[in-house]
Amino acid sequence: MIVIDNAAIATVDAGGTEYRSGHVVVDGEHIVAVGEGPAPTTDGRRVDGSGCLVTPGLVNTHHHLYQWATRGLAADSTLFEWLVELYPVWGGLDAEITHAAATAGLARLALTGCTTVADHHYVFPRDGGDQVEALVSAVTRIGVRGHLVRGSMDRGESDGGLPPDHLVEDIESALRGTEHAIDTYHDPSPNARIRIAAGPCSPFTVTERLMKEAAELARRKGVRLHTHLAETLDEERQCLAEVGCTPAEYADSLGWLGDDVWLAHTVHLAPGAIRRLGETGTGSAHCPTSNGRLGTGIAPARELLEAGAPVGLGVDGAASNESGGLGEELHQALLQARQRGGPQALTVRQALWMGTMGGARCLGRQDELGSLEPGKLADLAVWRLDGLRHAGITDPVAALVLGAVPAIELLLVGGETVVERGELRTADESAIATELRTASGRLR
Ligand SMILES: [Zn+2]
Repeated sequence: MIVIDNAAIATVDAGGTEYRSGHVVVDGEHIVAVGEGPAPTTDGRRVDGSGCLVTPGLVNTHHHLYQWATRGLAADSTLFEWLVELYPVWGGLDAEITHAAATAGLARLALTGCTTVADHHYVFPRDGGDQVEALVSAVTRIGVRGHLVRGSMDRGESDGGLPPDHLVEDIESALRGTEHAIDTYHDPSPNARIRIAAGPCSPFTVTERLMKEAAELARRKGVRLHTHLAETLDEERQCLAEVGCTPAEYADSLGWLGDDVWLAHTVHLAPGAIRRLGETGTGSAHCPTSNGRLGTGIAPARELLEAGAPVGLGVDGAASNESGGLGEELHQALLQARQRGGPQALTVRQALWMGTMGGARCLGRQDELGSLEPGKLADLAVWRLDGLRHAGITDPVAALVLGAVPAIELLLVGGETVVERGELRTADESAIATELRTASGRLR
């Protein structure tokens, strides 16, 4: 058992319950008590939460972990220019590079409060080895939960797509690879550490047939669906020219809206599309820093929440968000929502909701993750708020969302310690950095 007491607690439960000085008790993998005042038990390991805020672990709904090895390139480019410059570099990926990059990216996420990570991997070079295994082993090494999206691209340059032909798969290989990943790694149980989803990359890199057949495969297998959608105006123009409708209408026509789907970005949505995402329960992975880095626009997060759509936060790949930390996305999401919709557009508590329960809903994990309640999995972050960076801010949630990203006093995943006193406990940070430097060097 682990007993955290004397801490401020934001449970992010349905009523938004918070405690000024309370306790969280963890027994094995689960939370067994949360409340105000001293813990009802003195058994187990005691963690003094004085000066700290406890929240659910953050849920990252969109990433490309392999990109940690290709940060800082195409620094001043649009999305399409950035992709065209990076595709040939990514063509050199092998399993060892992907593992090193993913380990580094996951370490960074854990150190910024993240306990569950959705990774969208769509680059499978022919001689690149077992990319999915490289990701699974990185997730296991760092000790977080992984929702690995087996991505795919089947529309190379010669078919009017953006990626070079040698980087795309044929439809059969893409579907076979996705089915193999599901059969090998997908764990449907409530305490799953690894789940697989199906994820054709985007309308401009994937054929209509692959979009449809990947959706059929996912639904037959009972896994979720993920893709990039409506990220840029370039994408919208291309979609209108090629199929005569917007990306959201195109996704709708292919069976790609639904409560088993979450979409990365959804920046450019007409009012009718926002309503459709709400009606269908389609999730959005809002990636404010990446959208800012590529200058793609500001996603209508507030409007999507009002329409009833689940909205979670994502860091996106580190090649378009070199920081790669999830804690700061709470801050960025709030700033961008207010730049778009004024000072009332998003509260600090709504930003925290998106980073926790909103993300859990996108991934279909709302019954076991996303809030601190008895019976839920013990995935939580204890943020230190009593140092120079936050001292004097009396509202701990405002300190977390408006202030600098706090150090992590303790990060638990299923009751197991991943970060303690600001340091990764599951792996050696300097060894990870060395491996990453070597891997990144091999790609350039
Ligand atoms: Zn992305």
